[in-house]
Amino acid sequence: MLREQTRENWIDQRATGIYLCPMHPDVRETVAGKCPKCGMDLMPEGTRFALFRHMIGRRSHLVIMAALMVAAMAVAMMMMMMR
Ligand SMILES: [Zn+2]
Repeated sequence: MLREQTRENWIDQRATGIYLCPMHPDVRETVAGKCPKCGMDLMPEGTRFALFRHMIGRRSHLVIMAALMVAAMAVAMMMMMMR
């Protein structure tokens, strides 16, 4: 059982290369396994979940998204006023 898991992880490692902990952005392993801090399964980089974590992990992205939303609302209000 354990040996089979190790072999699968090794295959995954060759496919992606980097594994991330969902909870710890600083945990980046080159082999699949458990996070050394919380014990959660590391997820391969490139998954949708990793992208989501990347978005919320960088505050600058939130600022850009907020600015775009404000700009879109301003444009919408201008169009309503021009009508
Ligand atoms: Zn962790």
